[in-house]
Amino acid sequence: MSAPAPAPGEGTGHEGRGVGMPVTAVVVGSGVLGLVIGSFLNVVAWRVPRGESINRPGSHCPVCETPLRPIDNIPVISWVLLCGHCRSCGTAISLRYPLVELSAGTLFALLGLAIGWSWTLLPAFAAAATALVAVFMAGDRIRTSTGRSPDPEGAGRRWSGPRSRG
Ligand SMILES: [Zn+2]
Repeated sequence: MSAPAPAPGEGTGHEGRGVGMPVTAVVVGSGVLGLVIGSFLNVVAWRVPRGESINRPGSHCPVCETPLRPIDNIPVISWVLLCGHCRSCGTAISLRYPLVELSAGTLFALLGLAIGWSWTLLPAFAAAATALVAVFMAGDRIRTSTGRSPDPEGAGRRWSGPRSRG
């Protein structure tokens, strides 16, 4: 009666707690997802207030209308590699774009860290994305209506569209 028999119920091959997903993987995966979502939110926040379709034309420079190549469309990284300028026409790209992506990436990573690998993450991501797009759309509207340009590079002048009032 001394042989330690393996527990009969645990035949799944998982060791430890059985969750099977390292925290690092959850955080990194959530962060990357957040960057991608943030990139999409940029498109939404720019096009929806202007009544444009969010999927019809692919990503392009709004000034020279050159379609972005995949290498120029990587969240944050492309902005850094291009030093914040359009590859074709050299127009400054607002710092707000990588900031939105970084915000979403950070927020998602924190949610992944707090919640862990669970279905609860999905509604949490959706809520975070909705909140972010609301905040950035509101910021865009305020900036457009006041005509102020808080961007140090002056990029806000170009990205805020037609000047509404002096
Ligand atoms: Zn351009």
